[in-house]
Order: sequence, then structure tokens, then C-alpha cells
Amino acid sequence: MPDLTREAVLDVLNRIPDPLSGQGLSEAGLVRGLVVSPERVGFMIEVPQDQVPGYQDVRSQAEAVLARLPGVKKAQVVLTAEAPGAPPRDAPRGPSAKLSDRAVNDGKPKAPVATARPDHVRHVIVVGSGKGGVGKSTLSLAIALGLKAQGLRVGFLDADIYGPSAPVMLGLRTPPEFGEDKRMVPPEAFGLKVNSVGFLVDPDQAMIWRGPMASQALTQLLTQTRWGTPEEPLDVLVVDLPPGTGDVQLTLTQKTLIDGAVVVSTPQEMALADARRAVTLFGKTGINVLGIVENMAWFPAPDGGEIEIFGRGGARALAGTLNVPFLGEVPLDPALRQGSDTGRPLTATEPGGAMARRFSEIAAAIAHALAAEGPARN
Ligand code: ADP
Repeated sequence: MPDLTREAVLDVLNRIPDPLSGQGLSEAGLVRGLVVSPERVGFMIEVPQDQVPGYQDVRSQAEAVLARLPGVKKAQVVLTAEAPGAPPRDAPRGPSAKLSDRAVNDGKPKAPVATARPDHVRHVIVVGSGKGGVGKSTLSLAIALGLKAQGLRVGFLDADIYGPSAPVMLGLRTPPEFGEDKRMVPPEAFGLKVNSVGFLVDPDQAMIWRGPMASQALTQLLTQTRWGTPEEPLDVLVVDLPPGTGDVQLTLTQKTLIDGAVVVSTPQEMALADARRAVTLFGKTGINVLGIVENMAWFPAPDGGEIEIFGRGGARALAGTLNVPFLGEVPLDPALRQGSDTGRPLTATEPGGAMARRFSEIAAAIAHALAAEGPARN
């Protein structure tokens, strides 16, 4: 069966009229963040709050039409309300659009970038992976601590609904309190301001959230946490995304202004194929891919040798192929796992150690790339 193309999908969507303009859905600019993969086809319809009820039917029609396309296992169309004050459909949406050039360029038009952004936060970066279990959370935290070690004010948001781990990794037991403005006041650990989906719900419940519910909860964690103040804005907020390239990641990356994405992968083929998908997702949503990190690249043998348990160099090669920066490799180190399990992150407890130095370099490259983007936008 020939692969389904974006053009074919847009073509069928154009046969459904936009109730407002009468144009086809794609022509009317209503198809946002279209994902076409062998497994699934999906996109978002974003309309002003008061028009949401009028588009419920369009949403169901579009989903039904996509589900009937040959080869489509899952079709999902998400209907969401635009942030108040959002620009009209066709307007260019925010400065991140220009950042997409360095991301994967597949020659296709990039989806417009949305607008919500936490107050008093200069930069938001997301850390993603195609696959679970590759060390995304461990490395997100180490990157956040590495940025802190550069003298920056840093926040860490654990948005991994499938396995929120920040409370354990940082030994934090108390959830955020609510301030007078009804915003969450994040607890601090090792100099980071921290919030986690694990504070809000029991992890088993988080896992069964439907896409739109999860996206809403994550957007709330991002925007309703008091990350910074006008006097002391946060320099960087590091968001540990759920693994994969599904609707939750898609919606979050579309509804939030994100300055860059880091992708974590192990050197194995399977992980790399998924990492490639993650890079593509970020590219398509107009997010600047800051680079790929290879985790578990080798294991230091007692005789001083380096055992390449999962192979080595695959992520570096992938970065080359996709024309995105390679940020560095991280070895397997039992002390890194132990520190995570006991709430004492290695790079914070041994700031002069080899692992801390490694992450300091990765963080410096990220900070440099963010600074190169120009002045912060709020
Ligand atoms: P993910 O967020 O991708 O699911 P985690 O960060 O939770 O992955 O890592 C999975 C497990 O692997 C954890 O127990 C973590 O401590 C461990 N781990 C991750 N990276 C390393 C590493 N470089 N060395 C040793 N253990 C690691």
C-alpha cells in the first residue's frame, strides 16, 4: 500500500467546508500541526472560545474522514480554544517561526506557532525523546542543573504524565502551595524552582488522562506556576516532556512559546528511529531543535576501557543526517542512577565531578544557542 501523503490528507480535509468562510478546512487555515505517520493522522483546529461549539461537528466529520483513509490506524482531531488576543488565523504567529530554519527542514510549510508563555520566564526549552526509558528525565534534570551552574535562574517542570519522576529525583515531598493570586508557588530544590505533574495527581491517574485533558493540565502547570517575578525573572525553564510524539506533546508544543528542544536518545536503532520522529515533530511545529544528546553511550570498564553496551555514535550520526547540533554523549554511570533514586542528583552533589563537567558543557552549548536567538521576549 503506498504511503499516505500530507497532500492526500489535506486534499480530503479541503472537501469539508469551514462553516464560517465556506472554504475547505486547510484553505481556511484551520489545519494546525498536521501529523501524518504510518500509525496515525491528526491535527488541531483552533478557534476563538465562543466558536468552539460551532466547530464540534467539523471536528467529528474531519476525524471520521481521516479514519476512513487507507492505512490509517488512528485519527485524532483536537478542537481547542485560541488564547484570548491570539492573532487571526493567517497572521504569522510569534518570533519562534523564524527559529525553525535550523530545525529539520522537510520543505513543507511549518505549522504556525502558538502564543501562551509563562509570565516572567525568558526562555522555555523542552526535552523530549521518541522512546521511554532512554534517560530523558535524568538528563533533563542534569541539564537544568548544568544551566544553574552557569549562573542562570532555572526552573524545572516535570511534565512526563507517563512517569513523573522529579519528586523522587529531587527528594521533594511537598507539593507547591497556592499564592494569593491562585498561582502555584513552586518548591525549590538544589537551586531549581520545581513543579511536577506528580504533585498534582497520583501517577496512575495521570497515565489515563485523555490527550486534551493531559494537555490542559500541562499548560496549566506551565502558565499557572509562579516561576519568576518581574524583579527576578527565570532565565530558563526546562520542561521534561512525556516520551513520544503523540497528541499531548503536539498540543503542548503548539500552545506554548518554546525557544528550543533537546532530544535524548540511546545509540540503539530503535531509539534512534523514534528520536528522528521527535526531531521531525519539533521541526514541523516550528521549534528550534537545539540538539541531540546520546545517553548510555558507553560503560566505563574497571580496567579503564569503554564498553559500548548499546553501540555508540548513532545519535551523533543522526544529528549529522538531520543537520541539527550534536550536544554530547553521556556514559552509563551507576552513580547517576543512584543519585536519581535517592533524591540527590549526582551533578549537584558532586559539582566538580566528571558528570557535572559533562553537563556543564552541554548546558553551555544550550545557553549559547538561546542567547544567539536574541533578546528574550518578555
Ligand atoms: P526516561 O525519562 O527516558 O523514561 P529516566 O531518566 O527515567 O528515563 O531513566 C530510566 C532509568 O535509567 C532511571 O533509573 C535512570 O536513573 C537510569 N539512567 C538514565 N540514564 C542513565 C545513565 N547515563 N547512567 C545510569 N543510569 C541511567
